[in-house]
Amino acid sequence: LIQYSKKELLFKFVIIGDFGVGKTSIIKRYAEGIYSNTYKLTIGADFAIKTFDWDDNTKVILQLWDIAGHERFGSLTSVYYRYAVAAAIVFDLTRPETFNSIEKWLVDLRSKVNMPNGQSLPIILLANKGDVTISNLPHHIADYCKQNNILSWFITSAKDDTNIDEAMYFLLSTVVKNY
Ligand code: GDP
Ligand code: MG
Repeated sequence: LIQYSKKELLFKFVIIGDFGVGKTSIIKRYAEGIYSNTYKLTIGADFAIKTFDWDDNTKVILQLWDIAGHERFGSLTSVYYRYAVAAAIVFDLTRPETFNSIEKWLVDLRSKVNMPNGQSLPIILLANKGDVTISNLPHHIADYCKQNNILSWFITSAKDDTNIDEAMYFLLSTVVKNY
């Protein structure tokens, strides 16, 4: 009997953004396929894991790290960011002030994540709660992303399960091709 073992790749992604934008909901939806309206505040660091057979020879283990309550301090410890290879910054389409906070999260992220060989960290933006009717979508999101070296952005809904798989797949593809 010959057993071929697959190559295993472990990746850590951090999901950041203001309190209440839907980070925990997005992670739970993605990793566990569940959504709940109940507001629960998790304390401490927390992460969910999802594994994939990426291709015939590669297995991917993805860790999604959740801030779990610390977002209200406006910045995180470098321990939280350590070994992260990609990030999703989330804002809430129903609360424009959470879009304004992206800047702050970018600074925190880029000052604390050290990438090998001066590579830049792959970052995407998630405009969450896309299921709620809103009067005006920030029209400058695409320009904002371009100016700030954010790779892409997605309108998501953890509630309706919209675009979350697509967003994570995009980020994962970007990362996997470097290994
Ligand atoms: P976090 O603080 O960023 O982790 O946000 P939570 O995941 O705890 O979500 C905050 C609140 O927003 C909760 O009441 C969620 O049910 C709600 N929420 C999260 N995602 C969505 C969404 O896609 N659509 C709607 N309508 N509500 C959402
Ligand atoms: Mg949370």
